[in-house]
Formats: sequence, C-alpha cells, structure tokens
Amino acid sequence: MPNEKVRKILSNSIGCLCIIIFFSLTTYIVYVFYSTIAITTLEEKRYGKFIFHFIFGNWLAINIYFHYIMACVTSPGLAKDYQHLARQYPICKKCSFNKPPRTHHCSWCNVCVLRFDHHCPWLNNCVGFYNYRYFFQFCCFMATGCLYAGFFGYREYQISRLGVQVFRHIDSFFKVPDILEDLGVDGFITYYIFILTVPVGFALTGFSCCHAHMISRDETSVERLLQIDYKKDSITYNNSCLDNWKRFLGVYTLGEFIGRILLPSMHKPRGNGITTSDYDINTDLLPHQQGHISYGSNIYHHISDNYLFRKYRSEMSSWRKPHTISREWQHVVKTC
Ligand SMILES: [Zn+2]
Ligand SMILES: [Zn+2]
Repeated sequence: MPNEKVRKILSNSIGCLCIIIFFSLTTYIVYVFYSTIAITTLEEKRYGKFIFHFIFGNWLAINIYFHYIMACVTSPGLAKDYQHLARQYPICKKCSFNKPPRTHHCSWCNVCVLRFDHHCPWLNNCVGFYNYRYFFQFCCFMATGCLYAGFFGYREYQISRLGVQVFRHIDSFFKVPDILEDLGVDGFITYYIFILTVPVGFALTGFSCCHAHMISRDETSVERLLQIDYKKDSITYNNSCLDNWKRFLGVYTLGEFIGRILLPSMHKPRGNGITTSDYDINTDLLPHQQGHISYGSNIYHHISDNYLFRKYRSEMSSWRKPHTISREWQHVVKTC
C-alpha cells in the first residue's frame, strides 16, 4: 500500500512537471512569434508571409492546445464507472472492479481503464477509450508544429534578429561561440529551443505513424505489445481499415472531417468502450448518463454467446504470459 502511494505521488509529480515543460516551451515559441518574427515581418512590409504564418501558426497552436488540454482533462473511461454494465466480466485482482474486454489496469493511476492504450506522463493521464482521439490528434498537430517551428520558425527568427539567415541546423553543433556572440544570451537560448523542435518533431511523427498503424488495425499499444488479438475469433468483427478510421475519428463525410478533425471538436467516440459489438450504436451520452440499464443488458444478451467474449473470460481467469513476449516487456504484463 505505501508503494502505491509513493507511485501515485511520483506519477503526479512527473506529470505536473511534464505539463509545465509543455506549456512553457510552446507558449514561449508563440511569444517569440508575436514579439519578434511578426513585428519584423510587418515592419518590412512582407504582408503575404505574415498572413500565411499568422493563419497557419495560429491554427496549429489552437489545435495543439485544445487537444492537449482535452486529452489531459477527459477521463479515459474508468471501469469502476461502468460496473452496472460489467457485472459478468472478470474481476481485476488489483482494484476489485469488473474488467470488460480490452480493459487494463493502470498501475500508475491504480484504476482499470476501458480500451487502455498506455499511461502518458506528458498528459498526467491514462490514454483510453474516451481520450484516445484527443491524444492522437495532439501528437499529429504537435509533430507538424515542431517541424514547422524547427524549419521555418528558426529561419524567420534569424532573419528577424540578423536580417538574414546566418546559421544552418548543422552549425548548432560546431559554431556555438559564434551563435552566442551574434544572438546574445536570450537569442542563443531561443535559437536552441527552435533547434530542439526538429528531433522532437521527427520523434512525434514516428510515434504518430505507429499509432496510425494501430488505429488501422483497431488495436491498442498494450494489445500490440502483448500480441493479443481480440478480434481474430470475433464473429461480429469484420471492419476494414477505412471503417476503423471512420469509427475512431467519428467522421463519415468530408464536411464532418473538416469540422471535427481539422478544427477543434469535442464529439465523443462511437460505442461505449465496453464491447466490440456496439460500435454502430451512437452514444453521445455516456452509458451511465443515459439512465436505462436495459441498454447495457441488451448488449450482454447480444454478446453472451459470442465466442470472443467466452474466450476472453477464459483467458482472464487463467491469465498467463504469452510465450512470445520478450523479457524486456514482461514487466509490462505485470502492470496490466
Ligand atoms: Zn484494476
Ligand atoms: Zn494511468
């Protein structure tokens, strides 16, 4: 029990630190844009460039902040809130609540999370059924924003300060004294913040691509690592890659894509995160907010003879580590 408290405090401390780092760095780059780059661009009457960077930069910044905040504050979907829909599922040994399929226990938060993907210290939150879209869109917008700042912002910053681009990215390794001399201490720090966004942007791009691949296959990080395929034996599951994306994003037309994906949107994912057979049920309200348990009961009756469900229950009752897991991931198994 003391270990759980220590872990909780450690998790919150690291999470708060990550949130402060995120807001500090992103806000500082926005500040540099308005205080240095935008003023110089306007003074030099480069209006076309100013308008482009103003619209594109603000669109990115709004989407980054929105999806980050929503991913942080949105509950990923806790199994304990859906117990009236989950009484016939196995009990979690750590928190003693029923675990619907695809639910995993987060050791950092000590809760069972629906369609658990991972615990993200940068969000100080789990990533699960209800906030996965926010998390994924944040990664995409942040990757774009980092590469935009790292390749265009850093060039415009030099032009604003020195009148012309003097240093290249490679110079950040070999011309440190020259950069310090030409830009001063504050310009030196700002320059390297812009440089830092380049590797972060590439790393986030790779990370986003990995998640895009998993979304295409409708699998979570945990399922991928543990090589659990919940749908191979499912009678009901036969969704294509495109269907998986439509369901994940909650869009079915081009208009919805523009309004819900390119612009901030708070629409909820389809389904309730408890069963795979309810994906076509549109639940704008959370199940426990809908006020009729019969809805959940119908789902149970529908899936009670489902082979996938029986298989999951038998697997959970005699949980064993898959033989194919490498040793380095075995500690992950213990925490899920
Ligand atoms: Zn649990
Ligand atoms: Zn967690």
